[in-house]
Amino acid sequence: MTRIAIIGGGISGLSAAFAIEESRRAGADVDYRLYEASPRLGGVLRTEHIDGCVVEAGPDSFVTEKSWAADLARSLGIGDQLIGSNDADRKTYILTRGRLVEMPDGLMFMVPTKILPTGLSPLFSWKTKLRMTQELFHPPRAVDHDESVSAFVERHYGAEMVDRLADPLLSGVYGGEAANLSVRAVLPRFAEMERTHGSLGRAMLAARKKMRSGPRKPAPPLFTSLRNGMQHLTETVVSRLTASSLIVNAPVEAIRAEAGGWLVSAGLQSDQFDAVIVALPGRAAAQVLRMQSPDLSAELGAIEYSSSITVGMAYDHQVRQSLPPGFGFLVPRSERKRLLAATFVHNKFPHRAPEDRALLRCFFAGANAENVWSLSNDQIVAIVREELHQILGPQIHGLQREPLFARVYKWKSAMAQYSVGHLERLERIERLRRQLPGLALAGNSYRGIGVPDCVRSGRDAAKALVPPCQVA
Ligand SMILES: Cc1cc2nc3c(=O)[nH]c(=O)nc-3n(C[C@H](O)[C@H](O)[C@H](O)COP(=O)(O)OP(=O)(O)OC[C@H]3O[C@@H](n4cnc5c(N)ncnc54)[C@H](O)[C@@H]3O)c2cc1C
Repeated sequence: MTRIAIIGGGISGLSAAFAIEESRRAGADVDYRLYEASPRLGGVLRTEHIDGCVVEAGPDSFVTEKSWAADLARSLGIGDQLIGSNDADRKTYILTRGRLVEMPDGLMFMVPTKILPTGLSPLFSWKTKLRMTQELFHPPRAVDHDESVSAFVERHYGAEMVDRLADPLLSGVYGGEAANLSVRAVLPRFAEMERTHGSLGRAMLAARKKMRSGPRKPAPPLFTSLRNGMQHLTETVVSRLTASSLIVNAPVEAIRAEAGGWLVSAGLQSDQFDAVIVALPGRAAAQVLRMQSPDLSAELGAIEYSSSITVGMAYDHQVRQSLPPGFGFLVPRSERKRLLAATFVHNKFPHRAPEDRALLRCFFAGANAENVWSLSNDQIVAIVREELHQILGPQIHGLQREPLFARVYKWKSAMAQYSVGHLERLERIERLRRQLPGLALAGNSYRGIGVPDCVRSGRDAAKALVPPCQVA
C-alpha cells in the first residue's frame, strides 16, 4: 500500500486528501494521513453566522472562470449550494480625490473596451485618456525579461492608471503592491497580449470580436460562492475524509527522505510514508524542508507573504437603503487612507444578510495591515468606522451609530506575493523538487493564490503521487 502524508489542512491539503480518498474508494491501494498544526481544519476559509448574516473571515468567493473549486463542490455533492454574484448590480467605485467614482463600463481590468464610458468618466484625467487612445497604436513587443505590474501598466497607460486601478485591484487579491508584483506571474494574459498585439486595447477588442462570432451564451457570474459560506466547502471535504486520517494540533517540524520513503516528524512522533505532499505557505514549507534540502528551503523561504485584516460589520436597514448600489469600493494608495477596500456584501451575493441588514466587509492589506496589527479589535473597528464615514459621507444615514456587530479577523502572512522573477524561482524550485522523489508541493505559493488554484494544486499533487492507474 502507498502511504502518503499531507502537511497542512487548508483547502490545498484538503483537496489533496479528497483526491486520494476518491482513489482509495475507487479501489486504489493507497492511504493518507493529514497533519494540521492548528486545532481547526480549513485554513483561511472560515465563515461565521452572526445575527442572520454570513460573515466571511477569509475569502468570500472565487472567480467563476477558474472552475476547480466549483468542480470540487460538485464532486462533493454540494453543487446546488453554489451561488453566483449579483452581476446585474455590479458596480465598483474608486475613491478619487475624496469622492467615490464609478468604474466605467467596459473596463477589462484596466483595459478600456468601450470608448464613450471611459472617455466621459471622471476617474481619469485627460492625459490618461489620451494615453489610452495612443495605446491602441502600440506595436507588438517581445519583452525578454520579467517586470513589475506597475512598470508594465505605466508603459501602456501611464502612472495614473497604476494608482487608480492596477494597484488597488491587485492589492485586493495579493495584499501587495503593483510595484512589487511580477507581470508574468500575475497578469500572464496581458503579457501575452503585448507580445502578440502590442496594444492591450486592440488585443481585447479582437478577443471580444472572436467571442461574438461564436454561439451566444449568457455570461456566467463573475464570482461564485457557497450559500452558507466558503467554510461549507472545507467542512464538506472533511466530512468525506476518513476521520482517523486527520490529525489536528500536529505541527510538523521536519520531513526527511529516508529508506526510499519519507519520515515526517510532528511533536514526539515520527512516521514513515512513501510520499509526502507539503501543502503549506512558502515560509512554513521552507521550515519543514530546511534539514532535507537547504537550497529548496531557501527558495521557498524567499517567496514573500503579506498580511491582511478583514472586518465584518452589520448595520440596520437605514444604512442599507442609503448605501450606494453596487459591490463596494477600492481606495488607491494616493488617497492616504488605511482601508484598502470595502464590499457591500448584501449587494454582492444573495443569502448573505437579512433584508433589513447592511453587511460590510472591510479590508486592510500589506503595510496598512501591519501598521494597525498591534491595535486592539476595538481600535481597528474605530478606524474602519472613521474612514467609512469620511469615504461614504454623512448622507449614509445611521452609519455614525454603533454597528449591530463587528468582527475583526487577522491573517498573518497568508497571501503570497508573486514578486518580479517569480516564474524563474518556480523553475528552480521544480528542479530541486525533482531531486526528491515522492515529494509534491501544493498551495498558494506557486501558480495562483485564489481558492480554485489551491484546489487544483492539491489535486495535482495527489495525482502526481498516486500511480496514474489508481487515480479516480
Ligand atoms: C483575507 C483573505 C481573503 C482572501 N480572499 C480570497 C477570495 O475572495 N477569493 C479567492 O479565491 N482567494 C482568496 N484568498 C486566497 C485564498 O483563500 C488562499 O490562497 C487559500 O485559501 C490558501 O489555502 P492553503 O490551503 O494553500 O493555505 P492555508 O489556508 O494558509 O492553509 C495552510 C494550513 O497549514 C497549516 N500549517 C502551517 N504550518 C504547518 C505545519 N508546520 N504543520 C502542519 N500544518 C501547518 C496552517 O495552520 C493552515 O491551516 C484570500 C486569502 C485571505 C487571507
